[in-house]
Amino acid sequence: MAHNTPLNVLPQRDGAGGGRPHLANRLPTPGSPGLDRPASLYLHVPFCFHKCHYCDFYSIVDTFDRQRAFCDRLERELTALAAYSCPGPLETIFVGGGTPSLLAVPLWERLLDRLRALFDLASPRLEFTVECNPETVTLELMAVLAAGGVTRVSMGAQSFDTRHLKTLERWHDPESVPLALEFARAAGIGRQSIDLIFGIPGQTLDDWHRDLDRALSLGTEHLSCYSLTYEPQTAMTARLNRGEFEPIDEELEVAMHRATWAAVRTAGMERYEVSNFARPGAECRHNMAYWRQRSWLAAGPSASGHLRVADTSSGDAFALPGHRWKNVPRLDDYLRLDDGSGTSPLADHEGPDAARAVRERIMTGLRLAEGVNTAEVIDAAAVIAPGSADRLRAIASRLIDRGQMLDVEGRWVLTDEGILFADAIAVEFFGAVE
Ligand code: SF4
Repeated sequence: MAHNTPLNVLPQRDGAGGGRPHLANRLPTPGSPGLDRPASLYLHVPFCFHKCHYCDFYSIVDTFDRQRAFCDRLERELTALAAYSCPGPLETIFVGGGTPSLLAVPLWERLLDRLRALFDLASPRLEFTVECNPETVTLELMAVLAAGGVTRVSMGAQSFDTRHLKTLERWHDPESVPLALEFARAAGIGRQSIDLIFGIPGQTLDDWHRDLDRALSLGTEHLSCYSLTYEPQTAMTARLNRGEFEPIDEELEVAMHRATWAAVRTAGMERYEVSNFARPGAECRHNMAYWRQRSWLAAGPSASGHLRVADTSSGDAFALPGHRWKNVPRLDDYLRLDDGSGTSPLADHEGPDAARAVRERIMTGLRLAEGVNTAEVIDAAAVIAPGSADRLRAIASRLIDRGQMLDVEGRWVLTDEGILFADAIAVEFFGAVE
């Protein structure tokens, strides 16, 4: 998961936590008036079998010997975070990584027991997702996850073409994807998503059509399609800089976007976010909580959380500012630094900031098919930047004239043409509220 706004790096301090503040030092005490009590929880499992060349998520090549220590520390963190969570049942849990399916089965059993003891997982509406890499999925693991309340798997297929998997340094056999999904289904985990990547060097439009067709033939309810990005500090970017391959050209990338929209629509799915497609009602509710700036708790190295300064009864109230934080990314620091609170040492923290909340809401709202509530954004922006209402309306009217945006019953919604420029359009809007 990545935030669109940079977070401030915290000043170093001396103290019991080894010089880094822990989350408990930065948040009001649990149950403080006005502090949201989230119904969503993210867990980051940092282990991977191998470091893929394009990846900039925090993960380390496991190391089975550190899984137990990680789980011990994670359970202490979860115990501390439980005091901040909603009093009723959780609505969503998402375990990402890293490769959560690499965690040893007995440790999964222990973790799921602990989650059940600390949080209310009894809601029939609970969406509990675990990210899996197909080569690590076994029937035994899926049975344990299902018994522990997991309802959804997100399978990292990336491509069904071994040449392109090799370019990404992903080594699984494409045939392991349908098998892994079958194991999950047999265990009772019926909600399934597939992750694909396009724009891989050497990939043609026909190759991408084949990947889409294969993924859609597997009967999942949800598909995530990400365009390959060259993140700084990754092996892929170093290879690009050494001239080992050419990135695909822009025209082909646009054609791949269009091919994706056509294929998913034919298959009965809709784009509900720039990179995410689902059958009606099968959207990932956990990720929607991120994109609607709701509150969620986060545990594990490099996990990021958000806690609004508002009551949950405010529901989807517009742009409520909140605390944002990111745990330290290094497993060693996560294990070693401990101020006794149980919460994680932090890499970053930002306190509530109304202007940032409006920017975030514009940024993520434009990426969603539901769009941005026009009146809310104009009212909230007017408080921060007097005179911004006219500027926002002028930008909106230009975008509508260009065919990049529609005004749908009081919401600004990007068209297919606009979606290709979603980030640049958000930046244009930001300029109006400064
Ligand atoms: S498996 Fe996922 S998290 Fe791990 S290195 Fe590969 S892309 Fe990154």
